[in-house]
Amino acid sequence: MEKTKIWDARKTRLCIDIVRTIRKFSTCCKLKVGALLITEEFNIVSFGYNGTPKGTFNCHDVKTIEQHYSWDEIHAEVNCMGKASNQEHATVLLVTNKPCIACTQSIIANKDRLKISEVWYLEEFEDTRYENNQEILFKSVDIKFRKIGDKNGRD
Ligand SMILES: [Zn+2]
Ligand SMILES: [Zn+2]
Repeated sequence: MEKTKIWDARKTRLCIDIVRTIRKFSTCCKLKVGALLITEEFNIVSFGYNGTPKGTFNCHDVKTIEQHYSWDEIHAEVNCMGKASNQEHATVLLVTNKPCIACTQSIIANKDRLKISEVWYLEEFEDTRYENNQEILFKSVDIKFRKIGDKNGRD
């Protein structure tokens, strides 16, 4: 696995701003999530946000928070990776929220194809299905996993 170059603070800041803008496109009534896949040369490969499949109803038109399930939508990470072409050099996946277990598994499944070497997130997301053990799964396949920004997800 290639080592990802350490970006300067300005580049990281720009990526955070971009992924926070992307999340605004989500039509989820409960949680808007954005994902951004970037190469170590700081080129954007792909982006995604959580939403129902194209042609079906938008979450915020038919659901309330009380009726909501986490599997109502395709998650941002899966939409982002699905649109991305195969990569030759190391990439970083930046997500506004900590990936759920299903997305963690999808990221690992796409790791070789997309050369994902690191996963960064800004805000916590509690996934109780697997005791919130995303760290263990990522570590087992040598993907660096870390929260960036301060403890409130602001920076
Ligand atoms: Zn939703
Ligand atoms: Zn997910």
